[in-house]
Amino acid sequence: MAWRRDDMRNITDERVWEALNTIPRGQFLDEIYKQDEFLDTPLPIGFGQTISQPSLVAYMTQLLMLEGNEKVLEIGTGSGYQTAFLARLAKEVYTIEVIKPLQLRAREVLESLGYNNIHYKLGSGYEGWKEHAPYDAIMVTCAPPRIPGALVEQLAEGGRMVIPVGPENGIQMLYRIVKQKDELKKEEIYPVRFVPMIHG
Ligand code: SAH
Repeated sequence: MAWRRDDMRNITDERVWEALNTIPRGQFLDEIYKQDEFLDTPLPIGFGQTISQPSLVAYMTQLLMLEGNEKVLEIGTGSGYQTAFLARLAKEVYTIEVIKPLQLRAREVLESLGYNNIHYKLGSGYEGWKEHAPYDAIMVTCAPPRIPGALVEQLAEGGRMVIPVGPENGIQMLYRIVKQKDELKKEEIYPVRFVPMIHG
């Protein structure tokens, strides 16, 4: 089994395509879902959380325009699947998760796969991770009601942030924010549905 290029036509960045085909999604899934590894749908990972749809993970990664030298912040480690994309395509990854058992499991899987450029933090992503700022890219995989100011502050000039924004039970919009010298460029990508970014 493998991903079909025809089903992923919006993936034009070869490095992202390669990551999609290299990262073993099954390793991030619970035993009962391993058979669904190649279904392009979200799947439960416990604690009311989900691993995102692979085509969306790949597309969101592509939106960050990573070339290999970046320092990236991720909010919502979850299963660690998205983290693996970032670890392959950037230089250093700082990832924050609020649910401890998820963090521990993700870390175990990512370490077993040999990723050694990932730094893990348990806590709420609303504050970001100031000690290592600024970040060239920020990936948010849970939806806050509005863009957290701390994350904008911790984004480098020229940096990109991909973030779903909106209410828990309504339509959320996926944005790419580009921090320019005097303004914040905000691009609407498309409507999405993510788990809420909780205050923990
Ligand atoms: N990128 C993940 C998707 C995980 S779902 C993957 O590929 O599997 C979103 C994750 O965000 C969940 O694990 C949830 O616990 C976490 N989360 C929710 N609110 C958060 C917050 N305030 N800070 C950090 N993580 C949070």
